[in-house]
Amino acid sequence: MTLKITNLTGGYGRIPVLQHESFTVENGQTVALIGLNGAGKSTTIKHIMGLLQPQQGTITVDGLTLADDIQAYRQKIAYVPELPVLYPELTLKEHLELTMMAYNLDPQKTWPQAQKLLKIFRLDNKLNWFPINFSKGMKQKVMIVCAFVTPAQLFIIDEPFTGLDPLAVRDLLKLIQDKKQQGAAILMSTHILTNAQQSADRFVLLNHGQVRAQGTLEQIQKEFQMDAANLEELYVQMSKEDAQG
Ligand code: ATP
Repeated sequence: MTLKITNLTGGYGRIPVLQHESFTVENGQTVALIGLNGAGKSTTIKHIMGLLQPQQGTITVDGLTLADDIQAYRQKIAYVPELPVLYPELTLKEHLELTMMAYNLDPQKTWPQAQKLLKIFRLDNKLNWFPINFSKGMKQKVMIVCAFVTPAQLFIIDEPFTGLDPLAVRDLLKLIQDKKQQGAAILMSTHILTNAQQSADRFVLLNHGQVRAQGTLEQIQKEFQMDAANLEELYVQMSKEDAQG
């Protein structure tokens, strides 16, 4: 599984937010998409999900574009948004049933895995609850369970470190690790740089809709001849240099 973004220019109106963005996420890899508020992280994710149309460039998942086969493309991806999107009239159980339907999964075979995930996130006794009864973090956990029950090969996780309690962050990182070992590709967007540094293999630093740097921490340090000790320092240093022009 490889996500490949090539020369992507796009956004919301005539003036593009993203300009000539290119990066890849290979199987068995976690890539952290990093950038200040407004850098273009969510806009990039919306393009990958097919919610926005590129003005230029291509996005492929395992060589497939959205236009090639919309259903096959979508089934390869599982998405955990920063703000949980749940159906107010559906219970937790019904959300899982809906997910299984969307990914053409056999419920009988899939429920044991769902139960395992529900237990990890302490939701196993809440199957008949409606979203209104859940806290914000619990809603986020519902989205995580729905994503990780699927056989998707690309996991896109928006801001995984905000909103979740430390125990849930640890459990999520463990799930990500397991999926990676099974050959999945993970793209996470975040501005919590210490967590990103710990859990990602590679980094894509976005600035004003453009890729400012990408690679491992060492590669970026070397390329930009910076001696910053960690990702946070490196990012602050780069942002200051950009602001000074
Ligand atoms: P944050 O860390 O704050 O979530 P981000 O990196 O995800 O930021 P985006 O949401 O991708 O940033 O925003 C990139 C740019 O696109 C910003 O200049 C923003 O003003 C603009 N933008 C975002 N959403 C829309 C929209 N719906 N319509 C028009 N412009 C938008």
